[in-house]
Amino acid sequence: MAASASAGGCATAKNNPASKDSESEAEEFCPGFKDADAFVKHGLGTVVAATKASGSLPQAGDEFDFYRSFPGFQDFCAAQGERLLHCMSQLMQHHGCRSHMRDKNKLTGLEERFDLVVESNDVILEKVGIMLDEASGVTRSQPVMPAGYQPPKIVVSSWNRKGGNRSAETFHLLHAKNIQRPQLKFKDKVDNSNTPFVSKIFVKPNAVKPLSSYFTNKQLREERPEDLDVPPALADFIHQLRTQEHMDDMFAHPYQYEVDHLVMPESLKSKPEPQLYKPLAETSCKFIETLDDLVALNEKLANSTEFAVDLEHHSYRSFLGITCLMQISTREEDFIIDTLELRSEMYILNESFTDPTIVKVFHGADSDIEWLQKDFGVYVVNMFDTHHAARSLNLGRNSLDHLLKLYCNVDSNKRYQLADWRIRPLPEEMLTYAQADTHYLLYVYDRLRADLFDAANGQSNLVQVVWSKSKDLCLKKYVKPIFTEESYMELYRKQKKSFNSQQLAAFRHLYGWRDKLARVEDESTGYVLPNHMMMKIAEELPKEPQGIIACCNPTPPLVRQQINELHQFIKQAREIPLLKAEVAAEKKKAMAPKRKSESTLFGPHDTSHVSESDLMDLSSCEKERKKLKYSREKLIFLRNSVYSNMEPSTPIPPEIHCKSEWKADAKVGVLFSEEDDTSGLVASAKITLFAESEELGESGHITVAQQKAHSIMESFENPFRMYLPSKDIHISKNAKYDPSSKIYEISNRWKLQSIEQQQKEVQAKQKAKQQAKEQAKKAKEERKKAKQSYQEALQDVSTVRQQIAESKQGGQKRERVASEVGEETLKPIKKVMKTDKGTPAAVQSPAPSKKNQKQEAEDAKQAQSSTFTPFDYSQSDFKVFAGGKSKDSKHFDPNRQSHEFRRRKNQRGNKQNSGGRSMSYMSAKSDRGFHHNWPKR
Ligand code: AMP
Ligand code: MN
Ligand code: ZN
Repeated sequence: MAASASAGGCATAKNNPASKDSESEAEEFCPGFKDADAFVKHGLGTVVAATKASGSLPQAGDEFDFYRSFPGFQDFCAAQGERLLHCMSQLMQHHGCRSHMRDKNKLTGLEERFDLVVESNDVILEKVGIMLDEASGVTRSQPVMPAGYQPPKIVVSSWNRKGGNRSAETFHLLHAKNIQRPQLKFKDKVDNSNTPFVSKIFVKPNAVKPLSSYFTNKQLREERPEDLDVPPALADFIHQLRTQEHMDDMFAHPYQYEVDHLVMPESLKSKPEPQLYKPLAETSCKFIETLDDLVALNEKLANSTEFAVDLEHHSYRSFLGITCLMQISTREEDFIIDTLELRSEMYILNESFTDPTIVKVFHGADSDIEWLQKDFGVYVVNMFDTHHAARSLNLGRNSLDHLLKLYCNVDSNKRYQLADWRIRPLPEEMLTYAQADTHYLLYVYDRLRADLFDAANGQSNLVQVVWSKSKDLCLKKYVKPIFTEESYMELYRKQKKSFNSQQLAAFRHLYGWRDKLARVEDESTGYVLPNHMMMKIAEELPKEPQGIIACCNPTPPLVRQQINELHQFIKQAREIPLLKAEVAAEKKKAMAPKRKSESTLFGPHDTSHVSESDLMDLSSCEKERKKLKYSREKLIFLRNSVYSNMEPSTPIPPEIHCKSEWKADAKVGVLFSEEDDTSGLVASAKITLFAESEELGESGHITVAQQKAHSIMESFENPFRMYLPSKDIHISKNAKYDPSSKIYEISNRWKLQSIEQQQKEVQAKQKAKQQAKEQAKKAKEERKKAKQSYQEALQDVSTVRQQIAESKQGGQKRERVASEVGEETLKPIKKVMKTDKGTPAAVQSPAPSKKNQKQEAEDAKQAQSSTFTPFDYSQSDFKVFAGGKSKDSKHFDPNRQSHEFRRRKNQRGNKQNSGGRSMSYMSAKSDRGFHHNWPKR
């Protein structure tokens, strides 16, 4: 800070002799370092060295065990461990964090220590964030504070203000907080709906196989004539029937055929003579922001044989992210396209981008390929990725910086990589930066190819490998984030925390709230509520709104705005009774012996739970997921186009399994099912290996595979399991059986305790089982009732159908009055779902008995045979279709929140979507200020 403070002074104090002192003071940033850069470089070097060193420690398992048998090694580990803890402890104290890393009196297991580290990291990063903001001259908006609290005034010192000739140095800190949202200017509104991505393509240049009729049929995609005649729910249904036959096309890669049939161009088959780039300063760099210029550029590109491409993207203040800039370089010229301005016209570049005779050179195209599809409907046929080329050459470092240094001796500096590329007009320095990203790329491409030939003894096989990897990249499809009832578990599993059912319920609510809000407001989830804050709120379950605020520093604006809703979630979560097993676990925790990672007693390397084959099990599960993903996309589309709402509802206990992947094809009129619906063409794949252990226990013995699956599940629950002292302690056998040894004593104590624990667990399980049985009984009754009212509801729906038929016959077109009609029609169905899924009993028994399921399937069949057959609402597991009103009226209800957005959106002058299609879960009521952007031009 000292350095920066005086650096700020120098703009005004250049010729002032009095300032000499402060300048010489600033010569040393801190002892031994002349400036912050030097300090950072040194710090980074140290961290890298430490990481390397830790990576080369003996691996857990045999190698480590072997080393540990030497007392010298043990002593060394103990001493170094102690030193490390001391060092960390000091660092934490320095930052004013809770620190008892070395306190052996406290229950500081590895897990708790890890928590401390995470906590401290949060604090430190937060400070960094605040300082960066201050450096960029931004005053943070004041968070809501408890009543009576007077926030200190934040003084933004002048050193960080832009001024004089220092502008170039300070620009990269530009945060652009007050930038106008580019989304507001988009001609085609963004589609954040909870439906799978459908390509934006509508014309297909360079087609070998023509574009499917779904994309060329404007009426089909855009007009939805059914919208005019019928209530929204029915309109969706009709639309779905009409589009179903196109399902395969909708989710296929439009250029799959062309890319599949591409052969490597002759030009790549021989070693090239590198063609040197023109000096950057002497090259014209045209900024393109009009359609005319874009068309001219496209023509130029269409006549070239190769060009280089790069994109700049912004992802913080938008749900799906926005491509802000496209850089293109030919051998002679550079171009920068303002893709915010020309977003809807970018598709014309498909002419050159999909031309199989033109090589498009990218560096690390993975994201670029997705962004091109997502924002512009642009595809690439014939691409060469210099990142993959670098990898094939084993250059060690494959970044563009490195290649530029290596081949062009250019010191590029990626400091604008994460700049806010929405800024307009773009500062000169950012433009130059962007230009440099593609300017040298064609030369780098030449050099890499030449090297690839050399590396392959003059043969083209390495180039072939890179080219075919690049080809695979071109086939990558953009996948939109889809919210499901399981999404929160994915994030939960990634975090190294173990929540009880209250905390998990809160987490689930927060997750749903955040997802919905992010989509509606078109903000990233990280902007709405960053993961670590969400975890913290769920973990602490604050009793008061202020407590929630205290978990979030700085408080995100939307959290502040909806603090009462959030408070309600937490309150509800707190009211959930803890499961018996959890209560037992809490007790167990309290009784358990202190788990010090006393290295002399226990090796912290118990990997007996996780073996290589376990990992293989997981990866095969992953493969299975991938296989199923495609049909799942279709099903999600189906589902979401029928069901209009999805919200987090009554909490369920943590389930750690890999389920609900959908298989088989959906055919007209068949509803998806999440679980064991065998009545339709849609089957479900559940990997039973990961089923609850209790179920497994019932069937008698546990197979090896099941055991492994179980241990994987456990490792999800507690990722540190393998580092904790196991029940089966790894110590020298002699010591274990020598009654005079301390180890003998401890080992026995552990054994006794584990027997006690096992007994308690069995008791708890039995009780829980009995409870579950009772609940299942209740749930069954509820479901029966629900079925009945469902039948009634179906009759209502068919009446509406008849009405439409009648009205059509009569030639009278009923005007659709907003969404009221739809709401009315849907009500009975919603009621059914409420009784079905809103009941706590139904929820707390997630796995009803087989008998129940059979019964259900039969009921469902009956239901299907009534007039409105195709959609079996009763089979849906989406509680959300309960209609948004759960038993508890305080319960999270996305519909309730809509009014606020609506008002604000209206104020912003955002055009409302009056279509009222219930395609997305937040647009059930058609007026949510949300735009379904079915591909349109
Ligand atoms: P580049 O290809 O390096 O020009 O990066 C293109 C875009 O990728 C940037 O505009 C950023 O939005 C994003 N990006 C690049 N590097 C990172 C990173 N390390 N973290 C997050 N986003 C990145
Ligand atoms: Mn890039
Ligand atoms: Zn770039």
